[in-house]
Amino acid sequence: MPSSHRPRAGHRALLLCALACPGIGIGSAHAALDVLACEPEWRALAETLGGERVRARSATNAFQDPHHIEARPSLIVKARDADIVFCTGAELEVGWLPLLLEKSGNRRIQVGQPGHFLAASEVERLEVPVSADRSQGDVHADGNPHVHLDPHRLLKIAAAFSERLQAIDPEHTEHYRRRLDAFSSEWVAAIDAWEAKAEPLRGTRAIVHHRNWSYLLDWLQVDVAGDLEPRPGIPPTSGHLADLLQDTRERPSDIILVANYQDPKGARWLAERSDIPLLELPFTVGGSEDADNLRGLYDAILSILLDGA
Ligand SMILES: [Zn+2]
Repeated sequence: MPSSHRPRAGHRALLLCALACPGIGIGSAHAALDVLACEPEWRALAETLGGERVRARSATNAFQDPHHIEARPSLIVKARDADIVFCTGAELEVGWLPLLLEKSGNRRIQVGQPGHFLAASEVERLEVPVSADRSQGDVHADGNPHVHLDPHRLLKIAAAFSERLQAIDPEHTEHYRRRLDAFSSEWVAAIDAWEAKAEPLRGTRAIVHHRNWSYLLDWLQVDVAGDLEPRPGIPPTSGHLADLLQDTRERPSDIILVANYQDPKGARWLAERSDIPLLELPFTVGGSEDADNLRGLYDAILSILLDGA
């Protein structure tokens, strides 16, 4: 960790003012770290790990495709204020994050600074191609970026992000450590419960709209039998769907999965003709009523999978 990161001037002034400056409420809200998460799952994790020391916002909501966002002016304003960006990386945000960072003019959050944190860099990625080929529009040319639905990887990401918070805000190291410990022990217990509950899913076969379920399915030992997208990021074509239908006749699949922010047209076409149940799942926190935090998200996804399969 480079030692060059210091609290910005505003923070320092507030700290100095804590006792002496009338009219400035130095409640924890004022001194909290401003976290701009690229996706709702990281906002939720930042809030869990930071508690009142963190004020987290998300650049996207659960009904947007994080591959395709615009660096809108309102987002640039948020980036300007941020002490830390917490994004997925692995090219998930390649279409908008670099521009957002540049337009923000905020040195703290640039690549290589302590205020720039990428979840996918902290874990081993699945589906890393031998050589990156973006020529045909493949949006996963740097490996699969959708790491948040493997709870074991999420635990590693949580530990790394907590360390980052501690490095940026060393005065409150104990606070972050305590919160990480509490989260980790709860999460490990939850993993045990999920794995026991998901036992019946093991060895089933799923067709996915997009490869955003790979980490979840790898964890649950569900086989990916096919992709509705001919390549990650390329919408299903009629020829490709017809091939998939043929495949399912030769070897049936158990479920078709689509995230509820994705266009379900192709999935519905296949489900109607193959009689395979189509499951529309929340993909991140806020994606359904039950999925209002990380635990709720996993609970909701597992319930739908178990009901459907
Ligand atoms: Zn993707």
